[in-house]
Order: sequence, then C-alpha cells, then structure tokens
Amino acid sequence: MLELPEEPDQAEAPLTCVRCQGVLPAPGREAYTCARVHLILARGFCACRPAR
Ligand SMILES: [Zn+2]
Repeated sequence: MLELPEEPDQAEAPLTCVRCQGVLPAPGREAYTCARVHLILARGFCACRPAR
C-alpha cells in the first residue's frame, strides 16, 4: 500500500484570516476551489491586507 495521505498541510492550509475571519487571497487561480469560493461568499475577503 503506497497510498499516501493528501498532504494535509497543503490541503488544509488556513484559508481564512485569524483576525477578521476573511478569506485570504489565493496564490493562484487553481487555489480557488469550491470550498474557498464558498468561504469567500460567506465571509468575504480578508480586510487586513490592503490590496496592492
Ligand atoms: Zn484579515
């Protein structure tokens, strides 16, 4: 059995800001998963980091 776990650190990286509970900006388009999109719709983006 070489079935490895799906890298929990990467799969369950914190998507939300610990301060405002907003969703942190994704590093790339591929990071916008269904789960992330749902979080964005529910909580909005993190407001702590000003957009560049
Ligand atoms: Zn924040």
